[in-house]
Amino acid sequence: MNYYLIVTYECNLSCKYCGGTKAIEPKEISYEIETLKNFLDRDEDDLRHISFYGGEPLLRPELVEDVMDLGLEKYTIQTNGYFLDSLSREKLKKFDSVLVSIDGVPEVTDSMRGEGTYDLVLRKIRRVRSSINNLFARMVVSLGSELYRDVKHLLGLGVFDYVHWQIDFELIWRDSPYSDVEIRNFFRKYECDLKRLIDFWISKLEQGEVLGIAPFIGITRDLLSNRVSGMRCGSGEDFYAISTDGGIYPCPEMTHLPNWRIGEISSSNPSDLPKIKVGKPCISCSLRDTCGGRCLYLNIYRERTGVGFELCCSSTRTMIERLRKYIPKLKELISSGVISTKDFSVDLRNGCEVIP
Ligand code: SF4
Ligand code: SF4
Repeated sequence: MNYYLIVTYECNLSCKYCGGTKAIEPKEISYEIETLKNFLDRDEDDLRHISFYGGEPLLRPELVEDVMDLGLEKYTIQTNGYFLDSLSREKLKKFDSVLVSIDGVPEVTDSMRGEGTYDLVLRKIRRVRSSINNLFARMVVSLGSELYRDVKHLLGLGVFDYVHWQIDFELIWRDSPYSDVEIRNFFRKYECDLKRLIDFWISKLEQGEVLGIAPFIGITRDLLSNRVSGMRCGSGEDFYAISTDGGIYPCPEMTHLPNWRIGEISSSNPSDLPKIKVGKPCISCSLRDTCGGRCLYLNIYRERTGVGFELCCSSTRTMIERLRKYIPKLKELISSGVISTKDFSVDLRNGCEVIP
């Protein structure tokens, strides 16, 4: 089983698009590590995975290292990158993947995450890069972003293996700070960029180069093998979040919702955790087997979403259909040895958004 472990709700940044976790209590872990260990010992899966999450998990590096000493089969982390050098090299090497938030070119990153963030984070990354296995750039795409430019920029830096992105939640909730016109304009531009980026990615594949654009890799892999996907992030299926007081929730963004507390690490058995299924409109959507439902949290609170929900689905449709169109060509490239199915084999069960 996979678990997001909320290490702290504190964060050193105040990013524009962050829902904010600083008001959630208790801010710090209030259970004993032994309680967590006992819970994980009851997990009979061959692969037990902890993804460190927050707040900013590296505000508490000792705690992260203590949990890594429990010796699970897989560890990943989602971090803003400010304190990457606070972990020992030995521990950094143990991460299967490290996801660092950075939103694109310096102006976009700094306007979303604070002046100077871009330079500082890249400096920290370069200092420890040789100790990190798979490094993912974790973008939020919002007003001011340009997907085509920003993804190419991050890949062009030569430090990230993969890039993925999430559409700003604020563009999807009904009480969005943005007007419907702004939201519609955003998605119009975003879809154009998405198509351009897919075409660019394919042109590189034709030359035998597989750019690490995680959503395209994840979707293409499934289209090539006709695999039916569940919820892409795994939330409520095989990925759960553990809050600072030991409560268990379907998703790390839902730990402020008491009615979604579905277990306790002190008493629950991992195999008995309830499976949460997506509801309307995803259950009857023709893209469900590939999209998976995109986001359980938004699906559950569908009635609180605004015009952005449909527009986001439309962009998902555009992405999947455009990639599907290229599948015959990709099969030819694979059979002629230009690319290999192994090029699509990266493990994306690490908190990375396959459906943005
Ligand atoms: S495209 Fe939209 S409606 Fe369809 S499965 Fe994905 S999130 Fe659900
Ligand atoms: S995609 Fe949605 S359900 Fe999945 S982890 Fe993110 S917020 Fe939670």
